[in-house]
Amino acid sequence: MLVLKFGGTSVGSADAFSQVAHIVAQARTRDPQVVVVTSAMSGVTNTLIAAAQAAAGGQEEGYREARVALLVKHQVVAGQLVADGVERAALGRLFDERLRSFERLCRSIAVLGELTNRGLDVVSGLGERLAAPLLAAVLRSQGVHAEAIDATEVLVTDNSFGAASPLLAETRMHCQERLRPLLEGGVVPVLTGFIGATAQGIPTTLGRGGSDYSAAIFGAVLDADEVQIWTDVNGVLTADPRIVPEARTLPELSYSEAAELSYFGAKVLHPKTILPAIERGIRLRVLNTFNPEHPGTCIVKELTETGRKLGAVKAITAIKNLTLVNVAGKGMMGVPGIAARTFAAVARAGANVLMISQSSSEQSITFVVPQSDAPTVLDDLRHDLARELAQHWVDAVTGRDDIVIVAVVGAEMAGTPGIAARVFGALGEAHVNVIAIAQGSSEVNISLVVLVGDADTAVRRIHAAFALDKLGENL
Ligand code: ADP
Ligand code: ASP
Ligand code: MG
Repeated sequence: MLVLKFGGTSVGSADAFSQVAHIVAQARTRDPQVVVVTSAMSGVTNTLIAAAQAAAGGQEEGYREARVALLVKHQVVAGQLVADGVERAALGRLFDERLRSFERLCRSIAVLGELTNRGLDVVSGLGERLAAPLLAAVLRSQGVHAEAIDATEVLVTDNSFGAASPLLAETRMHCQERLRPLLEGGVVPVLTGFIGATAQGIPTTLGRGGSDYSAAIFGAVLDADEVQIWTDVNGVLTADPRIVPEARTLPELSYSEAAELSYFGAKVLHPKTILPAIERGIRLRVLNTFNPEHPGTCIVKELTETGRKLGAVKAITAIKNLTLVNVAGKGMMGVPGIAARTFAAVARAGANVLMISQSSSEQSITFVVPQSDAPTVLDDLRHDLARELAQHWVDAVTGRDDIVIVAVVGAEMAGTPGIAARVFGALGEAHVNVIAIAQGSSEVNISLVVLVGDADTAVRRIHAAFALDKLGENL
């Protein structure tokens, strides 16, 4: 069984929908059991979120305009690609109904003047609930038996609205019950990505970019042979092509390399995608909807000969919207437990620490958290270290927002000497100042903190220093 996930640009226009229909039909000649997972049409999730936020601020034109614009956007595709008039009319009614409920929701948000994460999940998940019925109808128009399924029926999650986690046992049960019979009857289920629901049926989302995660979850619970992530680039590249135009496709990546890359900002894969796939040993491929013949990237448990020969450094990423927190003081030396208390406070704030670096002089502890978590982390730290601050063992707890983490990723870096020297050499030549450094014990990545303004230069210089634009030419 194959799971095919199509991202926003892959369903961004009528032409893109046709292309997707072609890819699905091709996949079925390879394997009769195909599951499709779709994102919202590109830009739709952003429009929905912006409208809901504007409504909470009392602005009501936004959601009214959004309703009409979204209706037209989806109708245009249906008009071009759904041949059957009855089917087209039914779709039109469905779009209208769902968008009216969006308008009603936004009106209540405006009345309350408040947008909760729970409310936002209902609104932001609507894009997928428009795209899936549309894609299923387009597939039927092309002679593929397809049925749209709302993932709220089958993907059970906890109630962490905005970033829910799947409950796999329940999800497996529902998917087997609802999807197996369709697959065995030769029907292609077209599932909404990004969304799920709690056991009580309250809608949730898996976090921005979460349709990749949905695909991996469905792949895992249905015991698929392969999960294919169809996007708008030729697989996972050595860097973000918008920053480094000469970036090359990585034909093979290990799970741990892919996990590091997505964690440190390679938007092409949602960071959590890898896990459900690794756990069940499912093949994961990243492919280009607009260049389907390109072999893309294969993500494997253990690198093969080809993957190992690609070189020690595979890719460079940058992750933004972070805060560098520093706990510093000459009196910290020898005072036991400051590090432990610092991280206990961070854990209590529920913040995700992306990187830690402690200087050997013990005069400071530096770590990086997402900007959105920083205010709570700083408050908690100042509260918990109040005594040390008063005694001047700790001089200051500070946060700065003008930084990014640049990560250099590659499983074969372990045991290859001189990598760090080359990274710093390249940055030194470009006069890029490195504010902090960390190397994970797995040695799959080296991460550096640099100023936001230096981020693109840092990525380009390191990419060039390892000749990643010529990757694979020596094979
Ligand atoms: P989709 O809508 O298909 O999920 P995304 O926009 O989420 O697509 O992710 C694909 C985009 O990720 C690419 O267009 C590219 O600009 C960006 N990207 C960032 N880093 C990388 C990388 N290392 N390799 C490939 N794409 C990357
Ligand atoms: N539509 C959702 C988003 O824009 C999920 C996705 O595209 O993966 O975040
Ligand atoms: Mg994506």
